[in-house]
Amino acid sequence: MERFELFRYRITLFQLFGFKVSVDASWLLLAVLITWSLAVRYFPAVAPGLATLTYWWLGLAGLIGFAFSIVSHELAHSLIARQFNLPIRGITLFVFGGVAEMEDEPPSPKAEFWMAIAGPAMSLFLALVFFLVSGLFVEPGAKQLGPIAALFGLLSYANGMLGVFNLVPAFPLDGGRVLRAILWYRKGDIAWATRVAAGAGSVFGFVLMAVGLASTISGNIVGGIWWFLIGLFVRAAAAGEVSRLMTRSALSGTPVRRFMSSDVIAVRSELPLNQLIEDYFYRYYFTTFPVCEDGRLIGCVSLKSTKAAVSEHAALLTVASAMVACPEDQTVDPDTDSAEALRRMQRTGASRLFVTRNEKLVGILTLRDLLNFLAIRAELSGG
Ligand SMILES: [Zn+2]
Repeated sequence: MERFELFRYRITLFQLFGFKVSVDASWLLLAVLITWSLAVRYFPAVAPGLATLTYWWLGLAGLIGFAFSIVSHELAHSLIARQFNLPIRGITLFVFGGVAEMEDEPPSPKAEFWMAIAGPAMSLFLALVFFLVSGLFVEPGAKQLGPIAALFGLLSYANGMLGVFNLVPAFPLDGGRVLRAILWYRKGDIAWATRVAAGAGSVFGFVLMAVGLASTISGNIVGGIWWFLIGLFVRAAAAGEVSRLMTRSALSGTPVRRFMSSDVIAVRSELPLNQLIEDYFYRYYFTTFPVCEDGRLIGCVSLKSTKAAVSEHAALLTVASAMVACPEDQTVDPDTDSAEALRRMQRTGASRLFVTRNEKLVGILTLRDLLNFLAIRAELSGG
């Protein structure tokens, strides 16, 4: 999964095989809930007669085991993605588990299939390993499990559930991605394959919500609410993927020149900084202006670089002193595909791209224009 704006408050923990592993604040809530329910409910029930503190240590060990299991699952996705040259932004633990954030769509059905299947395969493999480890600690003839056997038994079960649940063929679950990859491979139509897999996701999300509601009514309030929320999340993610794909197909094949405006507000490097501030920043509210010389783009001047220049020296400065190289991500060719330009805006957060050809600034592409086009197109096609 990818592109979650959910993760406003995340902490990066460490790097693993070059992937950044982070936790979202929402996961901390889940972590407390898990530790508590293991220490107070699960372990006293399956391995009775131990000290209270021992149960809390077991609860903590269970939590670490869960985190390890989720990170391993996402790591498997990420390593296969890397094999197919698909960049992964990082692995994040959040309230519904984990996510390996892809920067782009999978390049082929084959890539999507192997990437998607890798996660559940890792989970099922870990389930087997933990099951065998747990078996080593079972004392023959004992009536109840020892604490270590109970811990590994739990981790085996959790990994088994993680693997099986994710194999449900409902997008955005891994099984839904496998389904999409197979349909995409057979018909060669990613849009249709996505609609089918996302349709299954939408139905499955609805089933989860119904199950959540039923178990809330029957008394399992926390678990019920949790399943209900997962159902909502699955439905939203499925719908989001369809609209993303529609956006992509509406824009792809159309070059940037079709949407760009050739009326660009550029500045000269000799312009005094105080005029830049008064006549440009305060007038147009853009945070970056292109700097041109005879139509050639020679650099950019941003609010940040202007502020740095102004605070060091005072008046009598010109744009030249605040000019920096334009970020490479912020310039496109007029023949660049518009879908690619939109992806670049989403990736970098830039709402304007400078369109250049042979170093000449020939136009500007704004996010607003692209969105207006999409809105009008959606209106006309009745969707
Ligand atoms: Zn997965």
